[in-house]
Amino acid sequence: MHFSRLRLTGFKSFVDSTDLIISSGLTGVVGPNGCGKSNLLEALRWVMGETRAKAMRGGGMEDVIFAGASSRPARNFAEVALTIDNGDRLAPAGFNDTDQLEVVRRITRDVGSAYKVNGKDTRARDVQMLFADAATGATSPALVRQGQISELINARPANRRKVLEDAAGIGGLYQRRHEAELKLKNTEANLLRVDDVVEQLA
Ligand code: ATP
Repeated sequence: MHFSRLRLTGFKSFVDSTDLIISSGLTGVVGPNGCGKSNLLEALRWVMGETRAKAMRGGGMEDVIFAGASSRPARNFAEVALTIDNGDRLAPAGFNDTDQLEVVRRITRDVGSAYKVNGKDTRARDVQMLFADAATGATSPALVRQGQISELINARPANRRKVLEDAAGIGGLYQRRHEAELKLKNTEANLLRVDDVVEQLA
């Protein structure tokens, strides 16, 4: 399972539709200052479900939409599409029935974000889980920001462990455990209420 293509439309400085083919092996992005190298990395993080506008270097999530330039008006939406080659059929359960997956995220001003996987509306949580189970995602240690190496060297052991767990692809399991615990608590509360009602009726 590997990323094979990234398409951006109206995302930050990429106002026109821009298509990048990602070959297997190492990919380098080079260019002059301010040409959009970091924006590309942010597009990857964003389509994988990033929810923190700050991690996108913005004040709000709509700041990822092309804001206009002297010769071009601002756009009303931004879209990033990530194509994943799943020829080895290693995608997590629920997403593993095609050789190719296309994950699309679109944000529209005053409306918010929506996701599609292979053309079908998909919840943000399910997209985030898809990437967490595949040992990648918006917070993946595989995407290295400036300054992140020194942060890691100075990090507390518990934080370093989190990096190793994300790299091993078990981050999604913690999220599922947390959700299961919440459901269990709700069910216990409901059972107590049922007991009360039964007692009143008796
Ligand atoms: P450096 O090498 O200096 O780190 P870079 O190649 O990583 O630069 P980026 O930081 O990705 O460049 O791109 C910065 C450019 O993106 C700036 O010109 C900025 O004005 C533009 N930009 C960022 N957000 C938007 C937006 N919403 N609309 C239009 N342009 C934007």
